[in-house]
Amino acid sequence: MNNFENLPSEVQILIENFGDETGYDKLEELKKQVEEHGYTFEYGLDGIITDFYTLCSCCKKEINEDRDPVYFTKSGEVYCESCESEAWKYANTVIVCQNGENKKYIWCQEFGFRDTEWWEEASPNGVEGFNYVRTDGWRGYWDTVVEDGYTTLASGWSTGRWSDVTWKHKFNDFVDSIADGEVECPFELIFSFGLTSNVFSTSSDVIIRESKLEAFTEWLAEEMGTTLEEIRHSLV
Ligand SMILES: [Zn+2]
Repeated sequence: MNNFENLPSEVQILIENFGDETGYDKLEELKKQVEEHGYTFEYGLDGIITDFYTLCSCCKKEINEDRDPVYFTKSGEVYCESCESEAWKYANTVIVCQNGENKKYIWCQEFGFRDTEWWEEASPNGVEGFNYVRTDGWRGYWDTVVEDGYTTLASGWSTGRWSDVTWKHKFNDFVDSIADGEVECPFELIFSFGLTSNVFSTSSDVIIRESKLEAFTEWLAEEMGTTLEEIRHSLV
């Protein structure tokens, strides 16, 4: 429940200008106007307004702030609990690996990044966020926005193990061995996985600090017995 004093001034003005009219038709009209601003209210049989509520920007249902949590999106919109958890159902993933340690983050358009350990707002190295790229009317994918100073080592499409496209296993082996800590890569590598409209496929990027690219390429040959070209090929 909201107090009158906490409502934005334009909503307060609407209600103040309404004055002491008590007709239900008039009250319903006022309610419509207030709801356009993302709020609503209740009134008694006497026509006196009692309780104010915030509306969820997504589903437009009223949120009882005394009882239910309220979530703010990056753009400052108010979300109810069920719309918040819905937003995270289709999240992109970023894994930052170095020296056998890794940190996992997920990202959704409404709320940005969270680290998956503490569920806190975060900004992983190498990735600013994602842009949705529409390839035709219904299809598309989330494209990684790479941070300044970083570069993409390889990018393309990867599919899960269940797939029979064996040339993609090279990339999966590479990700697994580094993300599991089986191979301790001394360079910070960032793996970014964007959802696509094909549920069996993700758009994948491997990202590294520009200044480390040359040294990493040497390490790849010495320690992993592979080349950037081979990894790039496995993502095509
Ligand atoms: Zn909602």
